[in-house]
Amino acid sequence: MATDVLIIGAGPIGLETAASLQAGGLTVACVDAGPIGGTIFSLFPPATRFFSSPERIAIAGVDLQVPAQEKASREEYLAYLRAVVHSLDLPVHTYEEVIDAREQNSLWEVTTRNRAGQPTTWTANHVVLAIGGTHRTRNLGIEGENLPHVDRHLGEPHRFFQRKIVIVGGKNSAAEAALRCWRVGADVTIVHRGDKLHERVKYWIRPEVEALIDEGRIKTRFNATVQSIKEDGVVVHNASGLETIPCQDVLLMIGYEQDPGLLDLFGVEREGEQSAPVHDPVTMQTNRKGIFVAGTAVAGTQQRFRTYIENAHVHAGRIRAAILGTEAPVETPPRSLPEA
Ligand SMILES: Cc1cc2nc3c(=O)[nH]c(=O)nc-3n(C[C@H](O)[C@H](O)[C@H](O)COP(=O)(O)OP(=O)(O)OC[C@H]3O[C@@H](n4cnc5c(N)ncnc54)[C@H](O)[C@@H]3O)c2cc1C
Repeated sequence: MATDVLIIGAGPIGLETAASLQAGGLTVACVDAGPIGGTIFSLFPPATRFFSSPERIAIAGVDLQVPAQEKASREEYLAYLRAVVHSLDLPVHTYEEVIDAREQNSLWEVTTRNRAGQPTTWTANHVVLAIGGTHRTRNLGIEGENLPHVDRHLGEPHRFFQRKIVIVGGKNSAAEAALRCWRVGADVTIVHRGDKLHERVKYWIRPEVEALIDEGRIKTRFNATVQSIKEDGVVVHNASGLETIPCQDVLLMIGYEQDPGLLDLFGVEREGEQSAPVHDPVTMQTNRKGIFVAGTAVAGTQQRFRTYIENAHVHAGRIRAAILGTEAPVETPPRSLPEA
């Protein structure tokens, strides 16, 4: 299948880039290894609300209306993305994972594989890597972390009703998981290497979790590191030595990493502490001619989230200008964003 631009990743910024390029008269195809909005679909637990307000995560000029005038939930945003694809008639191909790429005479040949294992070959003059930066969870590198009762995603909290659960981590996802698990009737212990919850835990989550901790309803082991995970408990090391916290389930909420495999496949170099793809911030073109990056993919593995949807909208316009050879778009400076 031939197209001017192949966009890899149908997350919000991949879709927004597709919309912008299509509006500029280019033919585009947007492929994703999973459904549209795959990161939001798989990493946000059900009913999670964005921390960004609706107008800041709306894409391609399509209004995002939320019935309660609150921050959008995971489900509202996924429905919104479906509506954007429909209304702008974006050519999206879901469950097409990119597995190979090669270049010949400035034309890229990219192979995807669908769920049934069948390959499709795409040819494109330009490729946009809008692949995100949260492909896999970090590991602790300790014994027992792959036992069957250890999860890396909260998922549906209902499953923790009347369960003893240890949550490892002290940032947003750990704090929110602790709150939601406690609310469904779990016996929750947070284990965190810091001496308190991380200072950037969202202001609407922190007071409630801290109140529950103060009241002893959520238990904590701060200044504690996990040594190993057993079938019936988590072994932690703290000032008083080794302690086993009995539990039935363990949630590791310790962050995500970018899988650099696709960047390597396209010959995109990486740099810096976050191993971010090398690119020109004006055009978003990488060190490989014709290969662009967009969205959170540009930041590599983020230790603290500084690149999100709301400050990545500009990537779409920059790529469009670079490909069409038009003047770079006028950008309003982003408001100063908190790190997450
Ligand atoms: C709990 C939580 C809350 C968040 N809240 C906010 C918020 O309030 N505001 C905000 O701006 N951000 C928030 N984020 C971050 C937000 O999810 C990202 O900023 C956003 O998803 C980035 O969009 P993107 O289009 O750049 O990439 P992504 O949404 O990550 O999309 C990348 C896509 O690329 C696809 N892909 C990857 N590899 C391949 C391959 N080999 N072949 C084909 N497809 C591939 C993936 O399947 C995925 O669908 C939050 C994240 C989490 C986990």
